[in-house]
Amino acid sequence: MVVTTTPSIRSLVAKLQTSYPHVQFVAGNSFCWSSDGSQVTYLADHDDAALLLLHELAHGLLEHAQYDRDIHLLQMERMAWDEARTLATLFDVAYDEEIRESALDSYRQWLHDRSSCPDCTTNGLQTEKTTYTCLACRQTWRVNEARVCGLRRWRL
Ligand SMILES: [Zn+2]
Ligand SMILES: [Zn+2]
Repeated sequence: MVVTTTPSIRSLVAKLQTSYPHVQFVAGNSFCWSSDGSQVTYLADHDDAALLLLHELAHGLLEHAQYDRDIHLLQMERMAWDEARTLATLFDVAYDEEIRESALDSYRQWLHDRSSCPDCTTNGLQTEKTTYTCLACRQTWRVNEARVCGLRRWRL
């Protein structure tokens, strides 16, 4: 039987720090990538900490900073999960498709909620970063700006 052991967060962070000296790894209360200061914040006390940490690092390595449209944010999430898979192999971290899918699902749901017309529930078109327009009834509505991280946390 093959048992995959995920390294402890401390030893993983130490390895990552050596491999990516330009990235700052900071323990905090959420998982987050911040392009200001090239900082990965991670929550050490989490069942999937290793993989979620690699996901945030992936955003950093892909130089994710800005996005113009919500759909682009979803693409960035998908790319970061693909990159996290490569990192997981590299650093001996178990990769769990279910974590990826549930994370992406929360973004899809978020995108769906934001883009649904408040009047007729038709899916609207994002015309500006924080504005959607319904092509069916011409209703326009504003949404708040999303961040690349912490989406899950403040959605629920
Ligand atoms: Zn992400
Ligand atoms: Zn409408």
